[in-house]
Amino acid sequence: MPPVSTPPVSSPPGGARPVPRPGILAIAPYVGGRSTAEPGQRVIKLSSNESGIGPSPRAIEAYRAAAEAMHRYPDGGAAELRAAIAESFDIPADRIVCGAGSDELIHLLTTAYAAPGDEVLYSEHGFLVYPISAHAAGATPVKAPEKDLRADVDALLAAVTPATKLVYLANPNNPTGTYLPPAEVARLHAGLPGHVLLVLDAAYAEFVDVADYEAGLALVEGAENVVMLRTFSKLYGLAALRLGWAYCPEAVADVLNRVRGPFNTSIAAQAAGVASLRDTAFLEHARSHNAEWRAWLTARLTQMGLEVTPSVTNFLLVRFPDEAGRTAADADAWLTARGILLRRVTAYGLPAHLRISIGTAEECEIAAAAIADFLRGEA
Ligand SMILES: *Cc1c(COP(=O)(O)O)cnc(C)c1O
Repeated sequence: MPPVSTPPVSSPPGGARPVPRPGILAIAPYVGGRSTAEPGQRVIKLSSNESGIGPSPRAIEAYRAAAEAMHRYPDGGAAELRAAIAESFDIPADRIVCGAGSDELIHLLTTAYAAPGDEVLYSEHGFLVYPISAHAAGATPVKAPEKDLRADVDALLAAVTPATKLVYLANPNNPTGTYLPPAEVARLHAGLPGHVLLVLDAAYAEFVDVADYEAGLALVEGAENVVMLRTFSKLYGLAALRLGWAYCPEAVADVLNRVRGPFNTSIAAQAAGVASLRDTAFLEHARSHNAEWRAWLTARLTQMGLEVTPSVTNFLLVRFPDEAGRTAADADAWLTARGILLRRVTAYGLPAHLRISIGTAEECEIAAAAIADFLRGEA
């Protein structure tokens, strides 16, 4: 075979090169939770808020069965999945739009409703995909300060300008694990002009077991400018399949259906999503596992003298001491060397914290024991 040679890159006349729209190169690419350690080492991955106990066995079965039809395009409208969601949540199917993860829906909403010169508002420690999507749209991301690691409605409303087009509120929020009660969310909505779209990102809603929480279904029903986002990536354990959905006012559903890819969710994701929704016993098991080990891990880490932000989600935000050798960065390096992967949250403005997802019982026990060893200064 002749040697393969790379043709020389020729400079186009005038040195011109394709240049992306303003804002694109301002994006700091999203860095996900790490998943690898030293070769041969057991990895305990608690860095991405994935399900501690994995998917429903029925979802795995549905995924396998879907393989036989992979030469066919999926149903672009995801009718069966939307019908299953509609039934589970008692909402109209025609106002549900499915996406390749709620990440895709965030990008579609931002690019559909915000243009260069517009502002996209979110709270200080809010999910990083919001500013990324704003930059991608050429719009300006704007952060409102939080109080005690919780979104502050007054600060959000004070940051609204005539240029504001969208407000994103993760409720509960990642990476803080905190939430706003329905009265606060209603106050935020009431303070927004009608042309501003309020997006309630309820990715962790299924884990919340306090009485004063609502994901936002009622608010969507009563308004033209509220969207609720949900995902199959967390409680349902389908993160790899990329599946999320939006509950929208009719006009917003119409917009999303115009801008989304015609086949944006795969046949396997749709099938596994339907099977997961119907396996209510499994979902209940996943929920109670999380509640049990979230309480256990919160208590253990608190006993060690660490500050744990009370969480209603499937992860904990933990503050480490400021003294050299015991910081969040030190802990992260020490744990990583032992295959225990937590998440640094410096990019969220929280350099002294680590985020830890609720894993299996054994993973929680191993991680807690390792953190205790680290704090005792063991080599
Ligand atoms: C994990 C997460 C999502 C879900 O993302 P997918 O794209 O559906 O996997 C959305 N919002 C927040 C705040 C999250 O933490």
